[in-house]
Amino acid sequence: MTKSETTKTKGADYDAVIIGAGFGGLYSVYKLRDEQGLNVLGFDSAGDVGGTWYWNRYPGAVSDTESYVYRYSFSGELLQKGRWKTRYLTQPEILDYMNEVADHYDLRRSYQFGTKVTATHFDDVAGLWKVTTDKGQTVTAKYLITGLGLLSAVNKPNFKGIDSFKGQIMHTGAWAQDANLEGKRVGVIGTGSTGVQVIIATAPIAKHLTVFQRSAQYVVPIGNTPQSAEVIAEQKANYDDIWKQVKSSVVAFGFEESTIPAETASEEVRNAVFEAAWQRGGGFYFMFGTFCDIATSQIANDAAANFIKTKITQIVKDPVLAKTLTPKDIYAKRPLCGNNYYDVYNRDNVTLADVKADPIAEFTPSGIRLQSGAEHELDVVIFATGFDAVDGNYTRIDMRGRNGVTMREKWKDGPLGYLGMMETDFPNFFMILGPNGPFTNLPPSIETQVEWIAETIEMMEAKGRASIEPTEAARDEWVGLCRTIADMTLFPKAESWIFGANSPGKKNVVMFYMAGLGNYRNAIGAVKDGGYQTMVFDRANALV
Ligand code: FAD
Ligand code: NAP
Repeated sequence: MTKSETTKTKGADYDAVIIGAGFGGLYSVYKLRDEQGLNVLGFDSAGDVGGTWYWNRYPGAVSDTESYVYRYSFSGELLQKGRWKTRYLTQPEILDYMNEVADHYDLRRSYQFGTKVTATHFDDVAGLWKVTTDKGQTVTAKYLITGLGLLSAVNKPNFKGIDSFKGQIMHTGAWAQDANLEGKRVGVIGTGSTGVQVIIATAPIAKHLTVFQRSAQYVVPIGNTPQSAEVIAEQKANYDDIWKQVKSSVVAFGFEESTIPAETASEEVRNAVFEAAWQRGGGFYFMFGTFCDIATSQIANDAAANFIKTKITQIVKDPVLAKTLTPKDIYAKRPLCGNNYYDVYNRDNVTLADVKADPIAEFTPSGIRLQSGAEHELDVVIFATGFDAVDGNYTRIDMRGRNGVTMREKWKDGPLGYLGMMETDFPNFFMILGPNGPFTNLPPSIETQVEWIAETIEMMEAKGRASIEPTEAARDEWVGLCRTIADMTLFPKAESWIFGANSPGKKNVVMFYMAGLGNYRNAIGAVKDGGYQTMVFDRANALV
């Protein structure tokens, strides 16, 4: 990548540096470079575009957002060109789509791939960001935009003896492209969304599959059925209405959220609604499309949980296995779905190891030994152990704002973020899916944020502003609001990555704005329309 002569910012190499080439980074390059004529440079440690869908190539990887809304909405042309055959997109299909977007807008020419950003320091004197990479280069830019991904920094527990294992170890979020599981003795640690998918896909091909389950999960069918040309044509013809609904909804998954409480419904009605949702498929639909209070009322939550628990006992033939597979906690993690998940445990080549009752003691050269002494001989161990979610990729970079203040120090008690996009003392710094952003189907939220960021930068350039950052009061108020909203739901009562509870050493904190995309769009729109009164402009200049 050579420096362009067209940089508008005096004394800077680029107007903006954009980190990440997933949905967020790619759209940012398009908005700032092609619509605003800024000179931008993108970095990604990956070898190409795709973000999540570049890295997560494990067998069975599929989106559980329906195909017609797991995509950008901004281009009618791209929407009409969209191709899919089934209700949900598989990882190769999403990666193809992202490659097509990159080709369509010639986005790769603004990226340097295979390059990890190691440090981002704000230079108070020059008023510019200095971005350093693992290739030893440093570039300067006025704006820094991070599309680092909220589920991207892998969480790989360091089990005792792990280096002694003679077989292959892989994390699902950094999948070895040549991995072959056929005929192997495979172990899977983890039963979250990823674990469920990889377990379903591996059981039929592995010689033997051992699932190391710490917490049993509520898994409903995904319902990944073929979609007819007629249905797809109808979706394409109705995109204006579809996006209007998605962007004013709560979870942005393309269905109308229910307005009917389960609390007051009869057991007969509840079970009929749950059964219809079970047949239809979809994890978010089961939680938000059936009744309006499953995530807020303990009574409603118990009703949904009990329905799924009954299904488990009906499906799993061995009652001891069924009991181990039955969740003990409330139904308030990120909803999971997969086809015939519980049936997997009826197979002769599948073993379930309950590592809550009998934890993993160590890896040995030939497999995994549990605390009881039970040994599981394995050729391959798959870590489906999730991510250091939301702030993981931020704290892995040496990020420093005004006067050298470090992000690690600022976020030592948990990540903070104003509108899910900005942080105090970090001028001209914009995060995509940063802390305290919306909890939804993500592409529409990503687009919402990138558009707001681009509009803010456009305003800055039009007014000749040097810098923008939120006030501490505004940031604190937003974080407080997110806490209040989260506490109105049952989500904080379950231990999961949504509150940082999955990573050892991380504090359980609020990391999302849980009032839905429609409300979020109104909130950030009001900041812009109100003239950015919650921001400080040109702070360094004001202090002189
Ligand atoms: P990402 O796609 O995560 O991209 C971030 C990029 O930043 C990565 O390529 C990474 O290499 C790069 N990066 C990070 N740090 C650095 C650094 N220091 N230097 C250089 N590059 C860096 N969401 C849904 O809404 N629906 C789904 O069905 C769904 N399914 C998912 C399935 C899986 C397996 C996973 C892991 C996530 C899923 N998600 C889903 C969430 C998904 O991450 C988002 O939908 C979306 O892809 C995020 O896009 P992004 O651009 O914000 O980040
Ligand atoms: P996850 O939900 O955090 O699940 C990680 C799993 O690993 C959990 O079962 C956890 O057990 C287990 N685990 C972690 N550390 C362990 C340890 N030391 N010993 C034993 N078990 C351990 O991660 P994920 O499954 O990768 O999913 C993360 C998110 O990515 C999802 O919530 C979703 O948003 C997204 N995703 C979506 C899809 C999709 O369907 N579209 C697919 C994959 C991922 P505990 O539960 O006990 O902590």
